[in-house]
Amino acid sequence: MSSFDGDAPCRGIARRAVVGAALGLGSASWSSEARASTRAAWGPEIFGCEEWGARPPTEPVTVLASPPRLIVVHHTATANVEDYSLLRAFALARAIQTHHMDTNRWIDTGQHFTVSRGAYVTEGRHRSRAELSRGTMQVRSSHCVGQNDVAVGIETEGTYSSTEPPAGQYQALVALGAYICGQYGLDPYDIRGHRDFNTTECPGDRLYALLPRLREDIATFLRGDPRSAGWTY
Ligand SMILES: [Zn+2]
Repeated sequence: MSSFDGDAPCRGIARRAVVGAALGLGSASWSSEARASTRAAWGPEIFGCEEWGARPPTEPVTVLASPPRLIVVHHTATANVEDYSLLRAFALARAIQTHHMDTNRWIDTGQHFTVSRGAYVTEGRHRSRAELSRGTMQVRSSHCVGQNDVAVGIETEGTYSSTEPPAGQYQALVALGAYICGQYGLDPYDIRGHRDFNTTECPGDRLYALLPRLREDIATFLRGDPRSAGWTY
């Protein structure tokens, strides 16, 4: 969580994110064999750094030799905007990167992924999407002290201390979480909130209270067949 203020214009893009996929896809088991055969062929659309106009990192990002062991959920502590557009998602991604690089003096965006209020998923630190697609390693991050070598960081746009995320954004969080768990072989119950590790209010009382449901919804999703959700990647 940090304060950001991004409103810079950016180029448009025609593709629409395929997120908010239906949950409860049935009880049929999706075999590990099928899962392996479709790696990188499924998942929600993630807009990469080159698509939202990221600056290059100030030094090469570090790809760690092992996969992550958990996911840490944050909120951005920014305004609960009603601009649900892709342009807003891109502007937010740039604002976060600017804050992390120019104020925090980090090499790049801190977290791996961001979910906008409009349910768009953007890549944070460079190479995060590519490594997730491969499913064997991850990029070293800067989002949670003590966990940056072992946890995937997801920033959820908004402030969720006294209100919950919009339904679409929550569904996108489920979709992204399911994809991360599927790719890295994580248990959905290994999803934590930032406050579990650091002294912070993040990800807000209301989003933190949603984490048990998030874990259950992701587990339900993974028991189904994500391919039938119409995801493309
Ligand atoms: Zn946080």
